[in-house]
Amino acid sequence: MARLSLRGIRKRFKAVEVLHGIDLDVKDRELIVFVGPSGCGKSTLLRLIAGLDPITEGEFLLNDQRMNDVAPSRRGIAMVFQSYALYPHMNVYENMAFGARLMGLDKAEVEARIAEAARMLRLEALMERRPRELSGGQRQRVAIGRALVRKPQLLLLDEPLSNLDAALRSDVRLEIARLHREIGGTTIYVTHDQVEAMTLADRIVVMNGGRIEQFGSPRELYETPSNVFVANFIGSPR
Ligand code: ADP
Ligand code: MG
Repeated sequence: MARLSLRGIRKRFKAVEVLHGIDLDVKDRELIVFVGPSGCGKSTLLRLIAGLDPITEGEFLLNDQRMNDVAPSRRGIAMVFQSYALYPHMNVYENMAFGARLMGLDKAEVEARIAEAARMLRLEALMERRPRELSGGQRQRVAIGRALVRKPQLLLLDEPLSNLDAALRSDVRLEIARLHREIGGTTIYVTHDQVEAMTLADRIVVMNGGRIEQFGSPRELYETPSNVFVANFIGSPR
């Protein structure tokens, strides 16, 4: 179960504030998409949730528990980065096992989890390959698999399609939607692409300049945008 609350979250780098008070409540099992132009603070917010960077001001709660000072490895959160660096000298199996071993799981449990993730991501035939022997889409699936073997209650995906060509994007996008349902956890998906947001999300967070402009279902944003920015961002086809 993963219910998520952000209360007045601010982030400053030195004197520069890049998040200006973010309030958000996400329900268990929702697929939430953060969307907004480049530089608006999407990745920064994700990194705060994952615990990779400290929150300057405000509170982050997961299932009503304050997480601000909880170590990243104890949050039950896994993040897939925009540049999904796999370990080049390890094969697919070893890449997926690495994070799970760090959690202190025994070998049999790691094997079982990898088998399950490989099935979900259709990676069974590729387990012996090195990253350089994989296509971009396959590498991205391994990066997602590496996150899944940790069985996160909250999965964070930062622009997971950005390194894929157009043909693969829709495949991997559908895969992520299917995985989200199959895992039964909560997913936060970051993109700057409004089409991706509209097709994937239960609810969308529209960000701009370190603030949330609107939070609602794709239909709500489309039919009743709260301002001109949201209307333009959601309404304008690519
Ligand atoms: P997005 O992911 O929406 O493109 P980011 O969260 O990466 O945006 O960046 C938001 C703002 O914060 C940008 O102005 C960026 O330059 C700034 N920023 C991000 N990380 C740092 C950092 N480590 N130090 C200073 N400024 C940063
Ligand atoms: Mg980013």
